Amino acid sequence: MRTLEGVVRPYAWGSRTAIASLRGKAVPSPHPEAELWFGAHPAGPAICLPTDGVPDTDLLSAIDADRVGMLGEHTVEAFDGRLPFLMKVLAAEEPLSLQAHPSSEQAREGFDRENAQGLPFDAADRNYRDPWHKPELIVAITDFEALAGFRDPQTTVELLRDLQVSELDPYLGMLAGQPDSEGLRALFTTWLTLPDASIATLVPAVLGGAVDLLGAGSSRFAAELRTVLELGEVYPRDPGVLASLLLNRIHLEPGDGLYLPAGNLHAYLHGTGVEIMANSDNVLRGGLTPKHIDVPELLRVLDFTPAAVEDITPPIRMVGAERVYLTPAPEFRLSRVELDGTGLVYASSICFDMPGPQILAVLSGSVEVRSMGGVVTTVPAGQAVWIGDAEPDVVVHAASSRAVFFRARVPVGTGS
Ligand SMILES: [Zn+2]
Repeated sequence: MRTLEGVVRPYAWGSRTAIASLRGKAVPSPHPEAELWFGAHPAGPAICLPTDGVPDTDLLSAIDADRVGMLGEHTVEAFDGRLPFLMKVLAAEEPLSLQAHPSSEQAREGFDRENAQGLPFDAADRNYRDPWHKPELIVAITDFEALAGFRDPQTTVELLRDLQVSELDPYLGMLAGQPDSEGLRALFTTWLTLPDASIATLVPAVLGGAVDLLGAGSSRFAAELRTVLELGEVYPRDPGVLASLLLNRIHLEPGDGLYLPAGNLHAYLHGTGVEIMANSDNVLRGGLTPKHIDVPELLRVLDFTPAAVEDITPPIRMVGAERVYLTPAPEFRLSRVELDGTGLVYASSICFDMPGPQILAVLSGSVEVRSMGGVVTTVPAGQAVWIGDAEPDVVVHAASSRAVFFRARVPVGTGS
């Protein structure tokens, strides 16, 4: 068992308050803080704080020094001796790029192809930095806004009609004439490959239509329209602004989850959440970013099947105080546990006895983690604790009147 200090990623879209206040630091932070990583990713492994004469190290080095003891045989064999997930606190003050992630097959094929082309691993125009897929799950801590999955095309036709922008007519016609995944593919492809001159007239026309429709009041698409305006303000010449019209505009309440499987086009807009993903860097971007964009490669991996919001909302199973988000990714299982230090409303403690690697990240209050060997660690909000395969039996007590932590682990078998 090791107490973990997360690694802050200072991306420009981050918040100056959310992660700093979670970690008990001065607010606002001097720079935006976008993500707090709890994992063993080579680009930012968590720090293992010193305990009982064991010096500090990082989680990647600690795992590499004792793979079977830390991960267990199942995880070592199934995932090449790596911790297969990365858990983060993500705090978005501004929208992130429009993106999708490849399937395992696409990632392997793309990685081999770019290797054969001789592209260096750190090249800016490299799409595939490793041969793995990157399914993602985010669970909201605050209200959380996102775009994810293609909306039912019939509803999108109604949105485009309501805008009453004559420049949109040919595109509206494409989707109205074929309101299905092929129509979505055709329209998305057309928009992402429009010449700059066409984008320069179409985006302002759409923004003008959105202003007028919002001004008229009572549009059922008010949230969608406000999002288009926000994106257009930051990226006035970006076809991603148009693409946002095709996606579900999703609002998550605290505790709600969103699962993004391979091929799902998505963009986080605003809010703080806990995100868990397979330990991969494979991102294909379609816009709303100054980073590398590869439209043909994005089109190869995108799934244009319309997705209802229910389709990408993971089922939840309550196991006592533990709220488990059931997703099909073999790399991770995420759950949220709320303990009540008074024991009056909820349980004040919870036992875990499952093998395999686990990270418990405390988001509110503090907890005391006790191993069967008698080791006791107190973990405050903003820190996490690592539990290795060799020490699976732990009891977690609330050390404050209310304590919330997220538990990340590797699922064992089916449904566990
Ligand atoms: Zn993503």
